[in-house]
Amino acid sequence: MRLEGKVAIVTGGAHGMGAAEAKLFAREGARVVIADIREEDGRRVEAEIAEAGGEAMFVQLNVADETAWESAVQQTVARFGRLDVLVNNAGISGSRETDFRSTDAWDRLMSINARSVFLGMKYAIPEMQKAGGGAIVNISSISGIVGQDYVHPGYNASKGAVRIVTKAAAVQHAREGIRVNSVHPGMMPPMLGSENRDPAQRQASLANVPMGRPGEVDEVANAVLFLASDAASYITGAELVVDGGFTAR
Ligand code: NAD
Repeated sequence: MRLEGKVAIVTGGAHGMGAAEAKLFAREGARVVIADIREEDGRRVEAEIAEAGGEAMFVQLNVADETAWESAVQQTVARFGRLDVLVNNAGISGSRETDFRSTDAWDRLMSINARSVFLGMKYAIPEMQKAGGGAIVNISSISGIVGQDYVHPGYNASKGAVRIVTKAAAVQHAREGIRVNSVHPGMMPPMLGSENRDPAQRQASLANVPMGRPGEVDEVANAVLFLASDAASYITGAELVVDGGFTAR
């Protein structure tokens, strides 16, 4: 098992890719903290992991709230004794915004998608230092690498911030055995399914994907698992695209 003995926090673990990551981590031997604002969904994931013989705990966390972060990390260590892995996955989409000039949307996107990642690392890293090392995987996006005409620019800015703050933290904590990497999903089912309902828009989105299909949540979860595991022991500050070739053009 690739995460045997490790304790992991997955933010946004109640739904979508975060839920897939939480379940995969548990199957690979990690004790998992599902940290999310959606309690009902989070408890469901917690129960599914327990039914499959794994160990998990739901923690209420708004990733934009610094006090809540401090408490979530404390609860993790109180229950499981240590913290080895943090996946900063929680985020909101920029394609739901209708006014791309909205300053409120910019602030919301930067707070929930980018400031959150800084806060998570701020409270997780001291525990990883105590544990003698750790791994952080920050979920950015292809939108952190290239621009799009269908998302609020605050989404690109927030995901670009995630990309570069990952490299800063990687450099600053490399000697402590803490690896920090980013994952950049492309067109994933949550986005294509719930937001791009218009078949023409869906087709146009897929036309930009060399593989010609959306990704599966487990295809992202597997990349996150690799970076979180000791198999990636010499990899830090890297950005791993999981996008069917979208950014290769
Ligand atoms: P999703 O909407 O299915 O799940 C996101 C989860 O984050 C939900 O459980 C939600 O409750 C939680 N969340 C939202 N705001 C939160 C907050 N303030 N505090 C705590 N939890 C919060 O999303 P998804 O599609 O699985 O996306 C997961 C990550 O991947 C996000 O960071 C997203 O930006 C990124 N991403 C998604 C796509 C895509 O196509 N879906 C593509 C690239 C990157």
